[in-house]
Amino acid sequence: MDFNSLLEQLQTQRPELADSLALLRQYQNNKKEKEDDDTAVDMDREEKLTALLEKQKEINKGILHQFRKLERNYQLLIEQMDQFAEAVGACPECWGEDSLCNSCHGRGKPGYYQPNPTYFNMYIRPVLSKLKTINNNS
Ligand SMILES: [Zn+2]
Repeated sequence: MDFNSLLEQLQTQRPELADSLALLRQYQNNKKEKEDDDTAVDMDREEKLTALLEKQKEINKGILHQFRKLERNYQLLIEQMDQFAEAVGACPECWGEDSLCNSCHGRGKPGYYQPNPTYFNMYIRPVLSKLKTINNNS
């Protein structure tokens, strides 16, 4: 038996309670309307939050993509710096600038180690050839 049927039954059995029952019925209807409103507000809020969440997911995806790209570029630069250090015979860890370096104890400035011939030919020899050409022409 639902609430309204119960109220009707009570009203039939106890007519003297009609006013109180009417108030109860009104209270029940107001309460139900308010719950419907709250549900509508909740739905609206939920939709907005879901939209915001989706938007944030897209932003995060973009940030993550940029981060991965930067990470790759950084890794390429590190590899190139290591090769360049080997080309000039410098310590790839500190280039001779850190007395606490476990590899060279701060002695690994360019020329400290034997240069790696492959990287020397790749990075240094073209510069020396260019300088030679410039000096011969002057
Ligand atoms: Zn070092």
